[in-house]
Amino acid sequence: MKLTCYWSDFLDLLFPRCCEACGKALVGTEETICTSCRITLPRLSQDSIISSSVKSKFVATPEVKDALAYLVFTKKGKVQELLYALKYKGNQEVGRVLGIMYGQELMEQGQVPPADLIVSVPLHPRRLKERGYNQSDAFAQGLSEATGIPWSGAVLSRTRYTKTQTGKSRAERYENMSGVFRVNQKEVVKGKQIVLVDDVLTTGATLDACVEAMKGLNCTVYIMTIAAAQI
Ligand SMILES: [Zn+2]
Repeated sequence: MKLTCYWSDFLDLLFPRCCEACGKALVGTEETICTSCRITLPRLSQDSIISSSVKSKFVATPEVKDALAYLVFTKKGKVQELLYALKYKGNQEVGRVLGIMYGQELMEQGQVPPADLIVSVPLHPRRLKERGYNQSDAFAQGLSEATGIPWSGAVLSRTRYTKTQTGKSRAERYENMSGVFRVNQKEVVKGKQIVLVDDVLTTGATLDACVEAMKGLNCTVYIMTIAAAQI
């Protein structure tokens, strides 16, 4: 045991592991995100304006019972660093760790939705091949580990490759996303309570298109994302 500790300290000296949020060296048993960042990351308060804005994006979608986001996304902030590491630096562990943290906090607050299944928003196979993994799967996996609700990344599939949504207006995003998703396993979700997860919530067009694909299957949907943008 002691030897293992010395060995890991020695490896830390040779190959410093850094916090993906603040860049400082991780120490001891810290993994992926340092203790200080874990405590101070900007949680989205349930009674905030952004939280109301998140919920309001789905008022026209009766299947969506609630919409929650874990963190507040601000440009150049720590949450942006984390999402960058998750999506562009190949560190899917960031998604899993944030899923575990969020799941644990929801458990402590008694706020875990009464769901049967956690479903992740899929990537198009081409994007999946480029990235090597789906960042929403990593978040779903972490949430599942903390809450005990099973997860699946195979319920939905993306039938069309869509270019980046950045720079598109709200209406353009909705138009761009409409009809993009298909339910592969209708029997798995029929009549079920689903937690639908994605990395960031901006206009809600992507998540809305997923719910649209599940229409007619009598699902109740809870949206959960790692972060919500301040718009
Ligand atoms: Zn940190």
